[in-house]
Amino acid sequence: MVTLDDILSKVEAETKISKDELGERIKKKQSDLSGLVSLDGAAYLVAKELGVNLLNNEKRKIELRNILPGMRNVSAAGRLFKISRIVDFTKSNGADGRVVNIFVGDNTGFVRLPLWNDQVKIVEDEIIKNGDVVQISGAFANENIYGDVELSLGKYGRLFNITDEIAGSDIEFPTIDELSKAFLGPQTNRILIKNLAPGSFETRATIIDLMRGKFLFNTCPECGGKAEEASDNKFECKKHGEVKAKPAMVVSFIVDDGTGVLRVVAFRDVAEHVTTTTASKLSKLDLDERYELLSGSLVGKEYIIHGRVKKNTQFERLEMIADRVKNLNISEESEKLADLLKMKLG
Ligand SMILES: [Zn+2]
Repeated sequence: MVTLDDILSKVEAETKISKDELGERIKKKQSDLSGLVSLDGAAYLVAKELGVNLLNNEKRKIELRNILPGMRNVSAAGRLFKISRIVDFTKSNGADGRVVNIFVGDNTGFVRLPLWNDQVKIVEDEIIKNGDVVQISGAFANENIYGDVELSLGKYGRLFNITDEIAGSDIEFPTIDELSKAFLGPQTNRILIKNLAPGSFETRATIIDLMRGKFLFNTCPECGGKAEEASDNKFECKKHGEVKAKPAMVVSFIVDDGTGVLRVVAFRDVAEHVTTTTASKLSKLDLDERYELLSGSLVGKEYIIHGRVKKNTQFERLEMIADRVKNLNISEESEKLADLLKMKLG
């Protein structure tokens, strides 16, 4: 592990500012931050202000899946992809306590890291934010009651935002959406339609209307991409030239969750899954028959729909491209409720 003296030596060598003077600046920095950071942490900040990048030497040491309960002095890096609500509580001795949980992930796994009391300010003052790449060092690992690995900073651990410090560090890690999907499952991002914004969300809503259309479009059998009709019954893929078109499904419908309505589009397997039919079956029916069949199976039913919400600039409204649709199943929903309760209570 890098010691304070190592930091001072490196900064002194690169800036020609004496260790004594650096020591003063570091103490001032620490008191400016009302003791929020350790001396080492303040030294990092001062070094950064002086343009000395210390973090390259102390880059992530371990992939997150390899962190095991019992490990000490853990150094790791990842993207912060979830911050829980800050909880204020009263300790048994009557003192006030605060805690917030942050979730950090990489390609291999994730860890939960609780921040206690003064540490909460790091989140509250947005020194680190959702989506930032953070470096954790000097932490220790234990197992929480859910069997997940949890890291604690303790007295000597440190947490830094390195988003801007290491060129390219930002793209080494999956996005917030990818991490949430991989590690938090559909529990995340459930939202009421009235609160929707562009991004990745899940809604629980009833299909109230189905848009009329062909419900089929032509795709390239090689790559699944769109195949345009070049001339009568001749189709072309941009990559594969002339191809024999294969029909794929698309459905567009309106859902209502009681707070608002939203237009949702589902393509290919997602469309087949939600309608419980297939493109090839549909292709044997005429347009009215298709509409009858599909509206009969969809309208009035409730679903959990996950997808990417985008602004349709032409109509100035939000629309969702569905990537997962589940027929609402009572037992599944109550399981989720139980999980949610467990999370809140735990
Ligand atoms: Zn193709």
